[in-house]
Amino acid sequence: MQLYNLKHPSQVVSFTEAVKLGLGKDRGLFFPTAIPVLEDMDTLLALPFVERSQKVIGAWLASELGQDTVDALVEKAFNFDVPLVKADDNRYSLELFHGPTLAFKDFGARFMAQCLNELAKDETINILTATSGDTGAAVADAFFGLDAINVVVLYPKGKISVLQEKMFTTLGQNIHTVAVDSDFDACQDLVKQSFEDSEIRDGLHLNSANSINISRLLAQICYYFEAVAQFKQQHETLPVIAVPSGNFGNLTAGLFAKAMGLPVSYFVAATNSNDTVPRYLLDGQWAPNTTVATMSNAMDVAEPSNWPRVEAIVEKMGWSLSDIKGVALSESQTSAALLALYEAGYLSEPHGAIAADALNQVMGEGEKGIFLGTAHPAKFNEVVEAELNIDLPLPQALADVESKSILSTELPVSFKVLKTHLFNILK
Ligand SMILES: *Cc1c(COP(=O)(O)O)cnc(C)c1O
Repeated sequence: MQLYNLKHPSQVVSFTEAVKLGLGKDRGLFFPTAIPVLEDMDTLLALPFVERSQKVIGAWLASELGQDTVDALVEKAFNFDVPLVKADDNRYSLELFHGPTLAFKDFGARFMAQCLNELAKDETINILTATSGDTGAAVADAFFGLDAINVVVLYPKGKISVLQEKMFTTLGQNIHTVAVDSDFDACQDLVKQSFEDSEIRDGLHLNSANSINISRLLAQICYYFEAVAQFKQQHETLPVIAVPSGNFGNLTAGLFAKAMGLPVSYFVAATNSNDTVPRYLLDGQWAPNTTVATMSNAMDVAEPSNWPRVEAIVEKMGWSLSDIKGVALSESQTSAALLALYEAGYLSEPHGAIAADALNQVMGEGEKGIFLGTAHPAKFNEVVEAELNIDLPLPQALADVESKSILSTELPVSFKVLKTHLFNILK
């Protein structure tokens, strides 16, 4: 697989290089030089999830890594279920939260960990990543205990739930966590600055595990095929798919799936009041506001870093941006959406509920849709219990961390302070 830098098209790298580098020159995103198209979709969709995923990822990577290696990576990474659950007459939830840290980030993080473990050979790798919540847990869990890999996770102090925080800050060993006194965009910016700093880059062999890493996106393509495979067993029509969006990695993966030939009617980009993309889709003006904190905090992103890839796919495929529908929900609309789903018999959480409601807003007569259930309701238990007036039992994965102490270091938003800290803990 060959990828080029969207900012400097003359920088062309292999998948192996792109996984290790994360970002290209001048923070440019890597983008594939060609998108493979899969033949015989019906046969492919009839396969079991893991076997089909081996073919989907093989289409990108077999020529570089060999199909046997791809098969092994996929089998180790994808060891949990992906059910499509009916929410009401017109809407289904693709439940992506049955992995070890109860959010869809497990797919990308586990596959990336397997890839790096395979590709790094004898080098030591330091991963620096920013999280608005779930990435931290997924990355920490996926890499925890791997000898040659250190992980540093930056997150906005006080802006994620305590349980969420405990899922990745209590592990220790090769997992280092930093609570930054600001918001997610500031954390993401510190990560980007670190990658631009030649002393850090060369001295620490930094790698990013953000959704900007191409390995994570390839993994996420696979569950869109699973969604359509299950949907097709019951419906003749093509599904509309609504994606709860923050950094837009998830939507990017969905568009790659469609570009590979997956039959999807169209996609809906659903956000909370951090609505840069829905506004852009309406008026063509890219005008990010300051990030605001919402109850769907994993989507509190005003400057989504994967957006240039979305535009690149649309351009490459000759599609139009107007084929993507944008919907933004306020906090009160999110509450109402969560309650409406619950009353229809489906327990969700704010992120999934936003996408579910977005389907209702855009779907026409006769259309049916799938929304991505990106997190387990119990992961957002405080909000869900308060909004729905119910008690939620804690799943085991969360109960296990509840009594542990947080091991994070607190730092101000200062690149200089972070740099010193990185050299202290990683050298
Ligand atoms: C990360 C996350 C999102 C946003 O996904 P992006 O790929 O960043 O757009 C949505 N919901 C949950 C629960 C998440 O953890």
